[in-house]
Amino acid sequence: MEPVYSVVVPLYNEQEVIGEAYRRLTEVMEKTGEAYELVFVNDGSRDDTLALARGLRQKDERVKLLSFSRNFGHQIAITAGMDYARGQAIVVIDADLQDPPEVILPMIEKWKEGYAVVYGLRAVRKGETAFKKLTASVFYRFLRRMTEVDVPADVGDFRLIDRKVCRALQSLPERNRYVRGLVSWVGFKQTGVSYTREERFAGETKYPLKKMLKLAGDAIASFSYKPLKWPVFLGAFLMVGSGVYLLALLIRVLTAGVLQGEALLMMGLVLFFLGAALALMGAVGGYIGRICDEVKGRPLYILEDVEGLEKQN
Ligand code: UDP
Ligand code: MG
Repeated sequence: MEPVYSVVVPLYNEQEVIGEAYRRLTEVMEKTGEAYELVFVNDGSRDDTLALARGLRQKDERVKLLSFSRNFGHQIAITAGMDYARGQAIVVIDADLQDPPEVILPMIEKWKEGYAVVYGLRAVRKGETAFKKLTASVFYRFLRRMTEVDVPADVGDFRLIDRKVCRALQSLPERNRYVRGLVSWVGFKQTGVSYTREERFAGETKYPLKKMLKLAGDAIASFSYKPLKWPVFLGAFLMVGSGVYLLALLIRVLTAGVLQGEALLMMGLVLFFLGAALALMGAVGGYIGRICDEVKGRPLYILEDVEGLEKQN
């Protein structure tokens, strides 16, 4: 029987939480009284996650499994889950129970009212470092200023999307994906449900700073070209500023001779703007690297194992 709901759960070294995630999700999904499937996506875990997922599937046919050949990253894992999910509504949720499965029920209610996207709004975030909360909050707001796409602030990937949104997402082949931005980009009727983001049930975050920065870079490069334009403003500012300065200097040389100390000041300024120019070049490099990724046209992920599913189109 075709499921009404698919719940996509990305898993990267989540042996401590997968059992509890299964239990809580099953409890909630059974309350709907409708058919559902749990799509576990093993993102190249090196612990016992895969074996545990297989064990759950043996007990319960509603558990489906996709397993990558290596770690491709969270955004790619949820993309794969959405590619294979068969439900009319598809929920994406973290395995670590920071996103409480119980919130799926109000999401379903909104979906039944006719919304195509119901995202989870993190009203409160528990058990996360002040650093993570601050950087996330600043970043969401910065991104909103940088882009024309209306990506809501304080929203992660925990959400319900209608099948038609899922299919629209499949038509976006880009490789360095910022999925929550893409969901905003495709449009449709969207709304949010507030929730409290809990502490991780067990284990540690699989999002170290490096992965967070990569995600932030993908978000900006995917939805804004502003960093590419900044050198124009910097250059124009420098040209006008240094032109005025040179003129003033010329007058002073002619009238009073050059003053000592000015050369050092100029060297400081030159170094400062050299730094700015290099930083902007690096930003341009970020875009070029992503263009390379697109040109190579490699697949988004390589599957080692698919159990109980077929790719949907
Ligand atoms: N995850 C993944 N691949 C990765 C990193 C994370 O599939 O390379 C999964 C992880 O197992 C979890 C979800 O993505 O289900 C969110 O990760 P995590 O909870 O570690 O991130 P945080 O909540 O700390 O931002
Ligand atoms: Mg988490």
